[in-house]
Amino acid sequence: MTTELPTIGHWIDGAARASRSGRTSPVYNPATGQQIAELALADQAEIDEAIASAERGFQAWSRMSIAKRQAVLFSFRELLNARKGELAEIITREHGKVLSDAAGEIARGQEVVELATGFAHLTKGGFNENASTGIDVYSFKQPLGVVGIISPFNFPAMVPMWFFPVALAAGNAVVLKPSEKDPSAALWLAQLWKEAGLPDGAFTVLQGDKLAVDGLLTDPVVQSISFVGSTPIAKYIYETASAHGKRVQALGGAKNHMLVLPDADLDIVADQAINAGYGAAGERCMAISVVLAVEPVADELIEKIKDRIADLRIGDGASSPEPQMGPLITAEHRAKVSGYVDIAEADGARIVVDGRGFAPEGGGDGFFFGPTLIDEVPTTSRAYTEEIFGPVLEIVRVKTYEEGVELINSGAFGNGTAIFTNDGGAARRFQNEIQVGMIGINVPIPVPVAYHSFGGWKASLFGDSKAYGVQGFDFFTREKAVTSRWLDPATHGGINLGFPQND
Ligand code: NAD
Repeated sequence: MTTELPTIGHWIDGAARASRSGRTSPVYNPATGQQIAELALADQAEIDEAIASAERGFQAWSRMSIAKRQAVLFSFRELLNARKGELAEIITREHGKVLSDAAGEIARGQEVVELATGFAHLTKGGFNENASTGIDVYSFKQPLGVVGIISPFNFPAMVPMWFFPVALAAGNAVVLKPSEKDPSAALWLAQLWKEAGLPDGAFTVLQGDKLAVDGLLTDPVVQSISFVGSTPIAKYIYETASAHGKRVQALGGAKNHMLVLPDADLDIVADQAINAGYGAAGERCMAISVVLAVEPVADELIEKIKDRIADLRIGDGASSPEPQMGPLITAEHRAKVSGYVDIAEADGARIVVDGRGFAPEGGGDGFFFGPTLIDEVPTTSRAYTEEIFGPVLEIVRVKTYEEGVELINSGAFGNGTAIFTNDGGAARRFQNEIQVGMIGINVPIPVPVAYHSFGGWKASLFGDSKAYGVQGFDFFTREKAVTSRWLDPATHGGINLGFPQND
């Protein structure tokens, strides 16, 4: 009965806050297909309340010394490290990814927390003495104020952690609007910030749908928007928030290709294609969706991938022994993924392994979809040009390296890509020629470490700034430059209406 289900609310003013909006949406455990909670969707009054609380939080937090802010960040890092198992369980319950994969996303988020603990160095300004006679010039960075983060369902902890450790370290207050599909990880993280000593309001969770998003995009108090999600929404976010004068970084969808040269070790390639194609049921923006096989390797590679698929263990990610792959996020998403396999088939592709209609033993009504392998996908098919976001690997056969590069570069997205080869010269040429933001050389999911930055090209990122790393700190700060002279009556030049010049 829906009436007995718990209702998930907001986190405002440093405390859990029940919603009075009366608007809700269901939250499921994708492995069982059962609804496990109702999520409150904010109304305008709650949006206003969340932003006002964040503004107060900003006043308190941004005035704290670097030393005190650093202590809060270190405390958050220690608490997260000690209790991350609880967070992994929450992720698995609402997202469906297996527990070790949930732990993996937390570990990658924790890297950014660790980067952020060194914020004093990364937000330092610069000083030039005697830029002109008796004049010094220096610059320093200040936080923006209240910043908005809008995140997707597929990494309910890691994606917010790409942004909020950096934003908070730089002195901002954060309003996080998580995905409606797995909203509880954000509340757990909010509670952890409270325990770490962050002032109330500096980390706020606003649950909601388009209304909450539009509230953040248009409210004049909100200074910037960091978004991750699908490309059409990323474009909307970029255009709307920019039109409202905000700084925006909007990361969109992907269609990542793995280019396999004939000299590659095909057993390693098959293992990596399985890992990168079917991990998290393909619901990763850096998942490999297309294997571009430079002939004559395709037939042999397909056999190897097919053999490995037969051994994959699929099931509830919280069960023991742990399976390797869990379900998709919702029944609707499963129908969409299945529809793309129908399209590929109708367009003349060969379905080598068919995951449509798959149900693991004891899988109940879970939203499972079997690993799928499709050969000879026409590059004109929507199943090739569009993002599927499921456990579907597509093989496209090409005759040459050049043909492979041309295909990747002509695609709409530019998030990630990988080349598999033993030829260093070819790999070096690839990294130079490819029009993609993140490249793996014999590495299938090249998510950069925290001290580099994460972001794609083309329809995979709207805006100029990537997530985390030095670019993250630049995004979440504003610079001031000061030109200063301590007046000396002996050298004071009197009245001069000319434009200031150096001497
Ligand atoms: P989504 O675009 O449906 O939702 C993302 C966020 O936008 C959610 O918080 C949602 O509430 C909000 N939203 C949805 N529709 C909206 C609308 N009409 N107006 C305003 N806000 C709206 O994405 P998703 O399904 O949650 O996540 C999967 C997508 O995210 C995939 O396309 C994937 O490639 C992408 N993704 C990209 C990256 C990256 O780094 N480039 C990382 C993770 C996920």
